[in-house]
Amino acid sequence: PSSNSEMVSRMKALLPPSTFELLEKTGLIADKYKLNVYLIGGIVRDLLLNRQNEDIDLVVEGDGVEFAKKLASELGGEIKAHDAFGTATWTTSTSIKVDVVTCRTEYYEAPGLLPIVRASNIREDLRRRDFTINTMALRINKQYFGDILDYFQGQVDIKKKKIRILHNLSFIEDPTRIFRGVRFALRFSYQFADQTNRLAKDAAPMLKHISALRLHRELELLMAEGQLVEGMKMLDQLHVWVSLFEVKPTLKTWKHLNQMINAKLTDSFYFLTILLYGSKKWKDKLTPYALTAKQSKLVQQLVQITTIDLKDNDMLSKLHTSLFSFLDETIFLYALLDEKEYLLKYLQKRKEITLFLTGNDLIKIGMKPGPVFSTILHQLMCLQLDEHIRTKEEAINWLKNQRG
Ligand code: ATP
Repeated sequence: PSSNSEMVSRMKALLPPSTFELLEKTGLIADKYKLNVYLIGGIVRDLLLNRQNEDIDLVVEGDGVEFAKKLASELGGEIKAHDAFGTATWTTSTSIKVDVVTCRTEYYEAPGLLPIVRASNIREDLRRRDFTINTMALRINKQYFGDILDYFQGQVDIKKKKIRILHNLSFIEDPTRIFRGVRFALRFSYQFADQTNRLAKDAAPMLKHISALRLHRELELLMAEGQLVEGMKMLDQLHVWVSLFEVKPTLKTWKHLNQMINAKLTDSFYFLTILLYGSKKWKDKLTPYALTAKQSKLVQQLVQITTIDLKDNDMLSKLHTSLFSFLDETIFLYALLDEKEYLLKYLQKRKEITLFLTGNDLIKIGMKPGPVFSTILHQLMCLQLDEHIRTKEEAINWLKNQRG
């Protein structure tokens, strides 16, 4: 759109009417207090792309928290302020969420340290952002309502379909921007600009400094975009996996990831397992990323399972006797990674079977609860797996014979 009237009609088309009205009223209140207020971030980009987005982020040249409080006192709703950061979330009486922040400058004294922050103006606020396509602001003060501020050629890059950082140290300052860039590139089918691509590769080793939790979070976000495998491939081209783990994914890696997703196992830890398993010192590399008890158990079991003598033609009962204590996920991953089809079959069957007898049935026929219960139920599971017992009746008869 080249004029603000075009932009206004686009806002009317893409935003819920209540949100549009809210922005108009917010602009009037800003006028009253002589403050410049802007809509910024993803929603401005998405308006230009004709995409819906309901994240209302406002920046104020002035005190953001104070302005949010004024909005709530004039228009109702509640404020949650984080004074230390100059940010507030305003939840209107009709449950629209609006983030209001003070325009600020952030600069880094050294890579990896937290940025130093001070209040500033809109241009400075936009300059600290990740990619040009995310640096546009839309004015909402009445006289300028719908005007786009575009200091960094964001609209040009939207036309060129480019992901472009704003300055050469951007990825060094915050290497998670590499992941963010990949997400946007995939979501919009954009390419990294040449220089951005080079700088991402150069900065990939900096990802060693992000926490395990953060890496998980970034993988989850890729997954949530429905683009995990494509994303991991792009990250590979940006040298992320070799820099982080000294691994080179292969065609098998992508195949296994797809199988994993098809099986609806979408925990980011499994993706890392697929990436690392079998590489040199894979266990040492994976362990720091095991953040839950279950994930730690998975690593430990994956090591353990390789030491068990399992054969293609083993009866299911024999497999079960070796594997009953292993998590489904361990067996699934191992079967996938070592391409052991028969283990998938075993796992499938083990999940399908419901035992014909429960501990209560044993009590009913007069047995005393104790360790023998689990022995009996394990035997029954084995017999059901091998299809030697196919009905509850057969199970009861078997039990009677057992007791002799
Ligand atoms: P999405 O549609 O995925 O929500 P978004 O652009 O709204 O995309 P957010 O993560 O909500 O992304 O961030 C809001 C804005 O904050 C972004 O548009 C960007 O300008 C800025 N931003 C977010 N994360 C960073 C970062 N790591 N570095 C610089 N700017 C960032």
